[in-house]
Amino acid sequence: MFRYAFIVVFAVLIATLLYCSHASMCSKKSIGKSVCLFCLSLVPLVLGNMFIIGTSTRVVALVGYYMYYIGMDIAMYALLRFTREYCGVKNAKNQKDHIVPFWLHILFTIDVIQLLLNNIFSHAFELQEVSAYGKPYFLSVPHIGVSIHRVACYSAIAIVMFVFVKITIKVPVLYKERYIVILITLILGTIWQAYYVFFRIPIDRSMVGFTILGLLIYYFSILYRPLRLLDNMLADIVSDTKVAVVLYGPEGRCIWVNEPAKELTGIRSDNLEEVSNTLISLFGDVSKLPEAKEVEMSLGTAPNERSYMVAHGKFNDRYERNLGTYVKVRDITEEKKRIEKELFAANHDALTGIYNKEYTFKVISDRLKQHLLKDYYVASIYICDFKVFNDVFGREFGDAALIQIADWLKKYADETCIYGRIAGDTFGSCLPKRLFVQNIVENDLSHFKVRLGDVEHRITVHVGFCEIEEDDQDPSVLYDRALVALDSIKDDYRKHVAFFDKKIRDKMLWDQEISGQLDTAIEENQIVPYLQPIADKNGKIVGAEALVRWIHPVHGFMSPGDFIPLFEDNGMITELDKHIWKSACEILSRWEKTNPNLFISVNVSPKDFYMTDVLAEIVSDVIQYDIDPHRLRIEVTESSMMRDTDDKMKILEEFRKQGFIVEMDDFGSGYSSLNMLKDMPVDILKIDMKFLGKSSDEIKADIIVKNVIRLAEDLQIISLAEGVETVDQFERLKVLGCHLFQGYYFSKPIPITEFEELISKS
Ligand code: C2E
Ligand code: CA
Ligand code: CA
Repeated sequence: MFRYAFIVVFAVLIATLLYCSHASMCSKKSIGKSVCLFCLSLVPLVLGNMFIIGTSTRVVALVGYYMYYIGMDIAMYALLRFTREYCGVKNAKNQKDHIVPFWLHILFTIDVIQLLLNNIFSHAFELQEVSAYGKPYFLSVPHIGVSIHRVACYSAIAIVMFVFVKITIKVPVLYKERYIVILITLILGTIWQAYYVFFRIPIDRSMVGFTILGLLIYYFSILYRPLRLLDNMLADIVSDTKVAVVLYGPEGRCIWVNEPAKELTGIRSDNLEEVSNTLISLFGDVSKLPEAKEVEMSLGTAPNERSYMVAHGKFNDRYERNLGTYVKVRDITEEKKRIEKELFAANHDALTGIYNKEYTFKVISDRLKQHLLKDYYVASIYICDFKVFNDVFGREFGDAALIQIADWLKKYADETCIYGRIAGDTFGSCLPKRLFVQNIVENDLSHFKVRLGDVEHRITVHVGFCEIEEDDQDPSVLYDRALVALDSIKDDYRKHVAFFDKKIRDKMLWDQEISGQLDTAIEENQIVPYLQPIADKNGKIVGAEALVRWIHPVHGFMSPGDFIPLFEDNGMITELDKHIWKSACEILSRWEKTNPNLFISVNVSPKDFYMTDVLAEIVSDVIQYDIDPHRLRIEVTESSMMRDTDDKMKILEEFRKQGFIVEMDDFGSGYSSLNMLKDMPVDILKIDMKFLGKSSDEIKADIIVKNVIRLAEDLQIISLAEGVETVDQFERLKVLGCHLFQGYYFSKPIPITEFEELISKS
């Protein structure tokens, strides 16, 4: 009966081992396989013992012993394998599989074979029948084979123990329990088993010990979480943070505070209640705040004000029972300062410390949305020729100028003003009308001097104003209008203040209107060349200048003065010029038969050189209309030669090489340089009519014209007088040696057909 009780116990052990091996296999841990193998390896061992205990038949007992001995070999192998992984030995340097060396594999295999051969040679063990608990029991009588088997098994156990002892000594205290429990169980199990083996006591109960070992191995490898270790780690993390943490038990008593909490409350002792009470006196009853949400609070007053994020929350177990509460206080003073600094840097101009462009417009826009800018101006403050100022007086002076203008803006501003630096040389401001006193501003600006140390330099500053009329206006548009207003005083060094008024608005609208119509106007032939005759000394018409006219369907006849300056500004002039050049070529090709000796001069605007390849364009027209380039004359003004002179001279040179005649237009109207003339690749000099105008001293004007003509002569340049209005002028110019003449005396610019009639009559 008693033996049957053992069988039941052993069956339970087997079931337990099977469960553990299954559970370890299912766990996702990498060691699961080794644990599973070990638990499974114990099954034949226990099963063998079950057979031995349960049977009164010799054969069954014999099978039981074979299972027991061979099972032991398998169990030892599995234990070595597990130890290798559990103790991390496999990572030992250059010693792969160090704990299950190859010779042990061989040893276990040989052992299993020699145990099986016992069937033939009976060299390992034989069975001796004894009586236990009143029934026959078969004891194994060991021979040399089993002794070998024991050496193998005990060596394996010794190696495993050695590894466990070594690692137990090595690891920190918190980890020791993982190893020490297994080690002790292994030692006890081995002693227990040895006791049965060496004293040859029937019914080996040490199987219980082995199963416990299997269970422990399963527990420590698969289930165990080092909670004490986690506790310690988490406590360390919380102590280390800069966040003040205070923990309360479920009944509301303070149970733990960290160092920052003590620092925050200024309580150095370990009196937890005192820390907690001080915290409440500083931040009030935090538990009333919304749970688990950080709320900003501040303590003290500027400049010593400090800001905190305060939060509280509950700990519940999985059944929602309250385990306690916590309060967290995070000091964000420095973080706030840093963010404020970054924000300042992002919104301000580094040099002057006032707003930058984006922020200025944003603030104006925000105030507009709040309807706060009624009776306000947007102003643009512009430093004239700032680049030149910088180049001449140096960057340091340039910076000083910017800082002083910013200071000047600050001086006038009150809290209702918005101002900032918009670009390198412009500032913007938004101010109530009442703050603007024209005389004061004019006076300030006309005496504006930049001071650096003892040195002072004058600088010209212009201010343009635009009134805010609607709340939905875009600040940058208002600002641009203020800039447009500046244009009206651009060349007037006595005026410093300009307003975006009706006149400027109308001009702007006009400019917009006609700019938008240019393409259609060209397509519909509203834009046409008029021709103004050019005569020789005998008054015979030898050619003409093409001068553009716009016959507008709404505005009627328009002179170049109405649109040329605008198109020169916005670059559209090139489109217009290309049309006139083509038209001139077209006329010349028509004249091929009727007036083959007449030439036409066309104007080339300074902008054209930058907007298109003038030479290629005109050459292609000449080719298209198949005309002699000699009949097309190219007029360039002096002023267009002022910049990039060398490049342009090359272009003119190329024109001449290709057979065109190049004329220097308006000579004498700008900053004429007689010196420049000698290098200019021009064939004709068009002397500006201003020379011939009502000069106070006609004799002097005469002398100048005479000398210009003579100089041109010496340089082998033909001279052409523009603006000849009277017969006297014509006669006088002839005496002075002029070759060609253009002016109202001969004819105004006239439509092509009229010109052709004029020619046919003469
Ligand atoms: P410009 O090239 O100097 O043209 C001569 C201007 O003087 C013409 O004015 C002409 O009508 C005017 N004029 C001619 N004889 C007399 C005279 O005896 N007395 C007076 N008081 N004026 C005279 P317009 O046609 O109004 O052209 C003005 C300017 O517009 C031209 O000056 C030229 O710079 C520009 N322009 C005209 N057509 C074109 C063109 O197709 N392209 C470009 N880029 N500019 C053009
Ligand atoms: Ca001209
Ligand atoms: Ca001219």
